[in-house]
Amino acid sequence: MNIKHKLIALLFTKKTKLECDKVLSVYSPYYQNLSKVNKYNFQIRTLLFIRTTTFNSTQGFVVNNKMKIIISSAFAQLTFGLKTDTLKVFNNIFITPQPYSYKNNAALFDGDVNLHTKKINMSWPAIERGFKIPDDALNLCIHEFGHCLIFENTSRSYLSKIFKKKDFNNWRKHAEVKLEKVKSNDNKVLRDYAGTNLVELFSVSLETFFEQAEYFEENEPLLYFSTTKLLKQDPRNKTNPIL
Ligand SMILES: [Zn+2]
Repeated sequence: MNIKHKLIALLFTKKTKLECDKVLSVYSPYYQNLSKVNKYNFQIRTLLFIRTTTFNSTQGFVVNNKMKIIISSAFAQLTFGLKTDTLKVFNNIFITPQPYSYKNNAALFDGDVNLHTKKINMSWPAIERGFKIPDDALNLCIHEFGHCLIFENTSRSYLSKIFKKKDFNNWRKHAEVKLEKVKSNDNKVLRDYAGTNLVELFSVSLETFFEQAEYFEENEPLLYFSTTKLLKQDPRNKTNPIL
């Protein structure tokens, strides 16, 4: 744990950390497998994310602490190997009790990152499903936070980039190859939605990266290892994924 996080840890009471541990021990398979030291670090990153994020919800639907911990743990998981531990632009998360639609559009959504309002919108049932089924390569929070990382990395100045330029370019090189494979139906690792564009491929591949790491590595090793480099972690090392 670095000095910054040691200091941040002082902001939270023992009770808050215990509550965080209790929720994560039930809901986050990633957390359950971590070593004791990593678990503590993960708690602090989760609590820091909660503190820097505003949660809102549909009227009459309450986002409780447990829900905030579960949602924020996905961000801690994604960024566990990175210096980045919070978002700067997408600090508002809006939770709905069921899939939602936009005005003048009948399509129902479970989640989206709205570039115009700078809000992350997600439906609670889909969030919960993402954590309750740990190996189907579907996790809505990982997916939407993946979008936030790409968008913020693009908009941040050179010094505060989330990803190293070299690592990102290396990832993109392999992702472009994979995108063509998905488009020509020569794909078995990622769900077909990855073929939409590189931004969706990034988020879909992150869901697979965490939930089917071995399968991903066996079948698309170049893309897998470019992702481990980019995120500075390898989820196959369950107790200590940080590289
Ligand atoms: Zn998406």
